[in-house]
Amino acid sequence: MKAWILNTPASVKERPLTAVEMPVPTPAEDELLLRVHACGICRTDLHIVEGELPMRRTPLIPGHQIVGHVTSLGSRVEGVAIGDRVGVAWLNRTCGVCRFCISQRENLCERAAFTGWTVDGGYAEYAVAPAAYTYPMPDSFSDIQAAPLLCAGIIGYRSLRLTGISESEWQGARLGLYGFGAAGHVCIQVARSRGAEVYVCTRDREKHQALANELGATWVGDAKAEPPVNLDAAIIFAPAGELVPIALKALTKGGTLVLGGIHMSAIPTFDYDLIYGERVVRSVANNTRSDGRQFLLEAASIPVRTHTQTFAFDQANEALIALKNDAIRGAGVLMTTSK
Ligand SMILES: [Zn+2]
Ligand SMILES: [Zn+2]
Repeated sequence: MKAWILNTPASVKERPLTAVEMPVPTPAEDELLLRVHACGICRTDLHIVEGELPMRRTPLIPGHQIVGHVTSLGSRVEGVAIGDRVGVAWLNRTCGVCRFCISQRENLCERAAFTGWTVDGGYAEYAVAPAAYTYPMPDSFSDIQAAPLLCAGIIGYRSLRLTGISESEWQGARLGLYGFGAAGHVCIQVARSRGAEVYVCTRDREKHQALANELGATWVGDAKAEPPVNLDAAIIFAPAGELVPIALKALTKGGTLVLGGIHMSAIPTFDYDLIYGERVVRSVANNTRSDGRQFLLEAASIPVRTHTQTFAFDQANEALIALKNDAIRGAGVLMTTSK
């Protein structure tokens, strides 16, 4: 099969991914083999390729938003058939026995495996994944539409949950989103369908601000602009620590600020006033399978429409460069179906 591998992290400008031919992997007894159709491009891929996250496997096939169909099954797989279309997300496998796994917090598992980081991912024509950690994909989404839901979508969904706003409180809630890439543009659609007013702070007038307006933001401003109202909750998707005190300034008493990224630049010191009044700052780490399943159902019922920019399979390095330059409107997707 054709695959993209990372041997040594480097700036994407140096095109650190190498195209190779390699054997199609063999699924273990609890795994599926997938013919990959599309793989979403995520900022986490960028953090891995550029070395902000340490290498956990060398060489590595990146990519953790995989949509494909099942071409073979391990001997112990049940409930999935050859030909089924499934998705693979970042949480690849958990131990099932640690204190986090046994308390509905498998996202924090001590021995979790992660797709496209600790195990090979989807920048390839084929990929294997543990059947129990894959998601049936709703038919209403095309492969391209579906790919960005698998990380950007699920993490946005979990971030919404961690704001602490309950089902009955969403109507009229004031939510801030800082950064408006793949995750932001899905998150706003879920929040709006629940009845929230969404205030979007993002750089890039032409792409990100325009898309936020198109998707029904109540107000759109620059990355560091001050929204015209106090926010009940806010989510920072941009990996920029300097936004934390800025977002706290906009948050009402008792409000929660959720940090949605796996990596963030250093957070500057700030006055206690900004967090006093029982404001909460918390991060989001990975997702549980239940987050994934619930999100895909809600996304299909809204229905969420992802805005995507597709890249041909041989354009993987260019796709990462575009992501780094904020040059993608919505979510980037690497197409792997070229025959
Ligand atoms: Zn565990
Ligand atoms: Zn991701």
